[in-house]
Order: sequence, then C-alpha cells, then structure tokens
Amino acid sequence: MNPFIQLGIRHDIVNAISELGFENPTPIQEQSIPVLLTGSNDFVGLAQTGTGKTAAFGLPLLELLDFEENHPQALILCPTRELCLQITNDLKNYAKNMRNVHVVAVYGGASISDQLHQIRRGVQIVVATPGRMLDIINRGAINFGGVKFVVLDEADEMLNMGFQEDIDSILSTTPEDKKTWLFSATMPSEVRRIAKKYMEDPYELTMGTKNTGNENIEHEYYVVRARDKYAAFKRIVDFNPEIFGIVFCRTKIETQEIAESLIKDGYNADSLHGDLSQQQRDKVMKRYRDRSLQLLIATDVAARGIDVNDVTHVINYSLPDEIENYTHRSGRTARAGKTGVSISIINGKELGKIRQIEKTLGKRFVKAEIPTGFDVVEKQLFALIHKVHNVEVNEKQIEQYLPRIMDEFKELSKEDIIKRFASLEFNSFLDYYKNAPDLNAAADERPRAEGDRGGDRFNRTGMRADFTRLFINLGSVDGFTRGDLLGYICNTTKIAGKTVGKIDVKGVYSFFEVANEDVQKVQSGFKGADFQGREVRIEISGEGSSESRSGGTSNSYKKREGGERREGGFRNGSGYGGGNREGGKREGGSRERSGGNSGGGFRDFSGKRREDRGERRRKF
Ligand code: AMP
Repeated sequence: MNPFIQLGIRHDIVNAISELGFENPTPIQEQSIPVLLTGSNDFVGLAQTGTGKTAAFGLPLLELLDFEENHPQALILCPTRELCLQITNDLKNYAKNMRNVHVVAVYGGASISDQLHQIRRGVQIVVATPGRMLDIINRGAINFGGVKFVVLDEADEMLNMGFQEDIDSILSTTPEDKKTWLFSATMPSEVRRIAKKYMEDPYELTMGTKNTGNENIEHEYYVVRARDKYAAFKRIVDFNPEIFGIVFCRTKIETQEIAESLIKDGYNADSLHGDLSQQQRDKVMKRYRDRSLQLLIATDVAARGIDVNDVTHVINYSLPDEIENYTHRSGRTARAGKTGVSISIINGKELGKIRQIEKTLGKRFVKAEIPTGFDVVEKQLFALIHKVHNVEVNEKQIEQYLPRIMDEFKELSKEDIIKRFASLEFNSFLDYYKNAPDLNAAADERPRAEGDRGGDRFNRTGMRADFTRLFINLGSVDGFTRGDLLGYICNTTKIAGKTVGKIDVKGVYSFFEVANEDVQKVQSGFKGADFQGREVRIEISGEGSSESRSGGTSNSYKKREGGERREGGFRNGSGYGGGNREGGKREGGSRERSGGNSGGGFRDFSGKRREDRGERRRKF
C-alpha cells in the first residue's frame, strides 16, 4: 500500500503527489501528518527548510477543510512573497484532482485588486505575507470568522523580519478555538514566546536536535586576507566547475557589487536584493530556477524562502550578523535529501564567529585550503574530459564532416589525438593560473607548544617561516605516495628526511616544504634528473608572484596573470548556458583573474543600515 495512504491521506491526493515524485513521506511528514490529521491539536514543528514541511501541513489541511463551503477556513502566514507563491503552488498541485479547492496567495508588491477579486470569488485557503494580509483585513475585505487552522510557517523568519505586531493583529481577527500549527527552523526564545502566547499545550515535534543543521550539509571555511577575498572566492568557484550556488552578502550594495564584478569577469551570475523591482527579482529567480544562471548573489532577506532544488553550494561571502541566519542560508542547499556544502570565506579575526556557529549547530566545520592554481587547472581539465566523455554526439550533423576530420588526423595515434585535444584547453588553463599566488591566510588560533615563546614563526600561509614550499612535477599519477616522494627526494638530493616538512601529493604534481637552507641543495640535486624518461622540474611555489615581489597588490597580480581569459574556457566547461543580466548575450570573454575590486578590498559597508528589520536578533 502507498505509505501516504497508510498515513491517512486519500487516493486523489496521493495520486497527485505521486506525480510530483513523492513516493515515501519525509521524516517530518511521517511524524506530523497523523497528528495534524486529528485536527484537534495545536502543533509546533521544529524543522529545517527543505524537509518537506509544506506537504506536512498542506496534506492534512486538504483533508480537514470543507471544500463545499466557499469561505476562508485556513490561513497560512509566511515571511516572503517567494515562499507564499511556493506554498500556494504546492497546495494547488496536491489538490489538482480535488474539486472546488480555492487557494489564494496574498503578498505585497503585486496588484491588490487582483487579490481582492480572488478573495471575493470565494477561497478556503489563504496563503499570505503579514503586511499585505493586514492591509486587506483593514479594508474589511476578508472575514476570518470561519478560520479553523492557522499555520505560521518559518516563524523565526517572520519574527526576524519584524512581523510580530502584524501577526498579533491578524490572529486577533481569527476565532479563539482555531488550531495553530507553527513551523520554524530554529527555536529562539522569541518563537518560544509566541508558541506560548497562541497555543494551548501544543504537540511538539523536533526533527533532529534543536538548532542542528541538516545532516547532509558539509560546512567548510576558508581563511583569507581581506584584500584577497574576491580572488579567493573566484578560485573556489573555478575549483567547482559544476557549481550551482547561492552567494550571500551582508548588504544590498555588496551584493550588487559582487554580482557586477563577477559578470564583468565573465561569470554567469546575477544579484537578488531588495532594491530591485519585483519584476527584476522575478526575472532573476526565473533564470536561476531554470539554471540559466549559475551563481545567485543575494542578501538574507531577498533569499528567504527560496526553494530551488539541487543547489550545490551556499557561499557566505560575508558571515551573517545573526547565527540564525547562518542556518537559513545553509538550508538553501541539501534540500529534499540531497547533499550540499556551505562555505564561509572569513578573515583570521572571524574565527571566533565560526566557533560560535559550530557551537550553536553542534557541528564541526572543516577548515579548507583555497585551492592552488594547479589544483584548479587539474580540476578543470578533468571536468572537461568528463564532459567530452558524456557529450551527446549529433551523428547526423557531424557525419558530413567526419571524412575530412578523419583525414586530418590520419597521421596521429589515438593517444596523440587525446593529448592534443586535452592540451587545447589545458595549455590555456595552465597559462591562466601559472604563478597564481597562495591565497590562504593564517587563522588567529595557532596553538602554542609548551615552552614556545613564539619560537617557530609562521608566514601568512600557516607554513613555518624557515621553510620553503617547492613544487615538483610528479604526483599520484606517477605512483607516488607521500612516503615514496619523501624517499625519492631524499635519495635524489641527499638531504635528511627531517628537513622536509609537509608533503602534499596531488595528481600530476606535488608540493613539499624544505628547510630554507636546503632549498639550493634540492634544486641542484634535481638538476638534470629524470623520472621514467620525463625531466623532473622543481620550482619554488609562488615564486615570481606579486605577493613575494611587489607586496601583493592585485593589480600586479592581474597583470601577471594576464587578465584575459577567453570565453571558450572554464565557463563553457561548466555546462551552464545563459549569460549576463540582459539575458543571453555573453560578455566579451575576458575574465580578469583578480577582479577589479579586490585590490583595495571591497568598501566596508558594515556601518550602513542593514536591509533586515529585526531587532532582537542574536549578535555574534
Ligand atoms: P519543503 O520543505 O516543503 O519546501 O520541501 C522541499 C522539497 O522537497 C520540495 O521540492 C518538495 O517538492 C520536496 N518534497 C517534499 N516532500 C517530498 C516527498 N515525500 N518525497 C519527495 N520529495 C518531497
């Protein structure tokens, strides 16, 4: 038997949700549907976004209301227009085989007369954001006297946005004996208080531990110098060719600036914030949903309620001011049982904030290293290879050219063709990233060894200052493990193993650290050396970089890295179409490495008024 039938949902609804791909109830649906179906409880559900909350309350509502009657029987309040439309749409989908079900979405920024018209025609379920709802109530245009159920969805968000008073006023127009169902991702004391105020002995359901984020989300942070933040961010994006992400900034201005810089640098990005008109926001969201946009740069407020599946990464370009917002941001990924990564790019001084979030979530964050230029090159190369492997061949179209193509290649072996083909992109990747500096910065929490009075000094990358990091063009594809490589280095150069520091074996290359006084010895030891017929190359990592030579302004970095990157490179490799804001028309193809703004760092807007309205939010 279908598990939703077992839970007590009737056939016509089950048929509709089967078409949506709901085969088994999510944990929150499994536990809340039987309780809510009784219709006799107030209810508090502590659940993250993306867990299937909408059906958890929506299916029981469809069972409990009397659709012969054409007056409002259920009111669902939620924080944003996007969520309001999402819920309305979901309910209509669940009810598509039922007769005379009328759901109206009531939200600001759209014509009120259309909404009033729909209400007048008769509705049973009103899904609303608080501001517009109150407006309609104040016009005397709706009667909530027959309301049996009120749902407060994303209650913590509604309070964060300062809707407490509006909610009070709206609820005062509903009958005393209605049942209230409250859903919230977090349970700060404010939410607790409204639960107490509006509910009588509610049935409480906690999915997972309180405040614990979704288990399918991995949390990572990168420590960089403030001036390198933008370059580091782009490096992370480049290292994830298949990224489909939401990038959070703190202010509207920062959001706009980052999006503009990214577009200028050739990325497929756009911004979503409160200064855009509703029409512009809808357009951006549509492109993001359609996946013709790869990176959505958003403020917390604008991104609330966004329900897009398959978001691979959430990137906190700036950490939020309130810990709760971190949960909301990261909850935009790993929806509906998928996995996702939540990345924070911080400076050394912000480590304390990360520790606080870790404590609140009860989760350990992984400190990740900004990938080196070589890492990116390797990743992009294999993404390209992967793409070639999976490309759909249009046999009919290509057929006519094949004889000529075959003729061109007849002198070359299969191996040669593959090598040349891969080099086409690989050379430009290499060129693009050669000498890219290490962007990792030291975090302010180096544990001191006992008796260490500042003894070993560490440089900006966290490496000991008396060590030098060297590049070698041998790696795991040559069969090296760290131990093998150590042995190989020591045998070839005759330096002692203990003067070799950290060894980082990558695919086609590796890094290793040696004591400064041994660098010369290593370089001369490898002079003329070959490995299985291949010349072994040793370079000082980051040598010639602007950081080591000219103090690291991003202008010199930009010049050094050439700035230009042709269109056919990485972005197309990612498999995303679309383009810039005007829709479709691509930028001319330059993608400057470090971006225009990173030199002087982004302006600090932290003193400016925030977009958010909440007052009693938890600050770091
Ligand atoms: P929600 O938390 O209601 O926003 O749901 C998150 C996503 O999970 C939405 O895209 C739903 O369509 C999807 N979803 C909800 N319930 C189920 C289910 N039982 N099986 C599969 N997908 C579901």
